[in-house]
Amino acid sequence: MARAYNFCSGPAMLPTEVLQQAQQELLDFRGSGASIMEVSHRGDTFVEVYEQAVKDLRDLMRIPNDYEVLFLQGGATQQFFTIPMNLLSDGKVGNYLITGQWSKKAIAAAKKYGQVHVAASTEDENFTRAPRQDEIQLSDNAAYLHYTPNETIGGVEFDYIPQVDVPLIADMSSTILSRPIDVSKFGIIYAGAQKNIGPSGLVVMIIRKDLLGLVDGLPNVFDFAEVAKNDSMINTPPTFSIYLAGLVFKWLKRQGGVDAMAKVNQRKAEKLYQAIDGSHFFSNPIAPESRSWMNVPFVLADESLNSTFLTQAEDAGLLTLQGHRSVGGMRASIYNAMPEAGVDALIDFIHAFEKKYA
Ligand SMILES: *Cc1c(COP(=O)(O)O)cnc(C)c1O
Repeated sequence: MARAYNFCSGPAMLPTEVLQQAQQELLDFRGSGASIMEVSHRGDTFVEVYEQAVKDLRDLMRIPNDYEVLFLQGGATQQFFTIPMNLLSDGKVGNYLITGQWSKKAIAAAKKYGQVHVAASTEDENFTRAPRQDEIQLSDNAAYLHYTPNETIGGVEFDYIPQVDVPLIADMSSTILSRPIDVSKFGIIYAGAQKNIGPSGLVVMIIRKDLLGLVDGLPNVFDFAEVAKNDSMINTPPTFSIYLAGLVFKWLKRQGGVDAMAKVNQRKAEKLYQAIDGSHFFSNPIAPESRSWMNVPFVLADESLNSTFLTQAEDAGLLTLQGHRSVGGMRASIYNAMPEAGVDALIDFIHAFEKKYA
């Protein structure tokens, strides 16, 4: 059986090379006589895997020394709560940019821990673009500005990093490692692993050290300062997910790092948008400057053909193109692990489908 091109938004495709290596090492991890899943997280074998993964991520993203790398659990969703829990000290206000479903969830969670403020929103334009810098209005006493650089469901991506004089917090779940970013512009970057890093069950957080320990008395597993102090191992971490993330980091290095990935990702996205824009049968509503490189939603002019499109795509080895249940239509998620050949195959399929049905 051949591997299909899987356009799932998450858990998403992993590089075949990575899965093959994991398969080859599964029973006897590098001569240890056991699977990496079966050894203590405090033993030398796993600690080496953990330290190498942190180091490789630091290299890939050029993470400055005044930042900690944390491996957390509970998904990005849990961090919607733990971030205000850790940062909204007395009377401070959590500021949010609202650009789609994920940023809405983030602000809803923060309301439980303190005051929040919408610093900009594009909801009245149906989330078809990112707000501009000059539209961002912070509240008094702002603790931070949280935003979602890439809205996975709507396919809206910021083409700039907002500049504010409070810590900038970014939910990069669906865009981390897809292009180079200047980490020093951020207070916190966090990402659920299952889109561009590895298997679900793991969150990667990059946090500036001065943001640790601002609020006292938190449960230790939710307290970023405690997690940092314990090398992300207050309790048993998701060891297999960390191991696999480490293999993905090595794979990214072999591809030439995030600079090389950015070139391929931009090319993949541009040709797919071109195919959609060049057609009378398919369309994408997002403003060109805010179009995501990672998640490309599109709709058919004749929605009654949606299920025909999906069935025939699947027969052609193009999986999971159905859009999010909240917006309908189609969505192609084309993260780092989606080969350019997969995008080419989708474009060929789109052309052929239009020819047949338009
Ligand atoms: C997928 C996703 C989430 C949710 O991640 P979970 O790990 O399922 O909690 C949050 N934010 C963004 C931008 C996402 O793409």
